[in-house]
Amino acid sequence: MKNIKHIFFDLDNTLWDYRRNAEIAVRKVYREFGIEKEYGYGFDEFYDHYYKVNESLWEKYRNAEITRPELQSRRFPESFKSLGIQNPDFAVEFELRFMAEVSDGKHLVPNAIEILEYLKGKYHIHIITNGFPKTTDYKINNSILKDFVETVVTAESAGAPKPNPKAFSAGLKESGAKLSESVYIGDDWEADIVGATEFGMKAIFFNPLSENHLWIEGVPVVDHLTEIKNYL
Ligand SMILES: [Mg+2]
Repeated sequence: MKNIKHIFFDLDNTLWDYRRNAEIAVRKVYREFGIEKEYGYGFDEFYDHYYKVNESLWEKYRNAEITRPELQSRRFPESFKSLGIQNPDFAVEFELRFMAEVSDGKHLVPNAIEILEYLKGKYHIHIITNGFPKTTDYKINNSILKDFVETVVTAESAGAPKPNPKAFSAGLKESGAKLSESVYIGDDWEADIVGATEFGMKAIFFNPLSENHLWIEGVPVVDHLTEIKNYL
């Protein structure tokens, strides 16, 4: 890609390993609350339910069908109900404990540091994330990511989550980058890739799980972060 000066990364599951860190946090809180002992459901069984409920709520959040507080107040009660626990009145407390634990997670996506070291100095590196402001701040400033990232925009600071063009335009404004000199790299086809390209920004799709996806002309697809070196 030519004339690129600014790289905008997605955070969760592109640089910060949300899948891994979240599972560790939910597992810890699940054990703390003694749910297997009390109700007889093992963690893996619960986590399947939680994964589906959470993914579907995040999709609604990206589509502006629900708000962030709604997402947070629904994901655990609905997961426990879907598992078969009828009155999960502990779910509110569960969410609070989960939020306190998850941003402590330190696992990054494989080769994240390697690619950031390669890009640093050649490009300005930024983040545009749909993550929540407090946890985003914690994830970046309590990890090595803070040594690489110049500016950070969240859905709330932008006024809307990706794929809304407001999120990308806030990224440009915050960093002082020009659209023509910018590229977006993310793992969510709709929010990151469709969002960026409809805004007019170049994009690279990171597809670590090698999932089936659509194609957009001029948008490279990489399964490993190190493959970004082929384009930047
Ligand atoms: Mg992501």
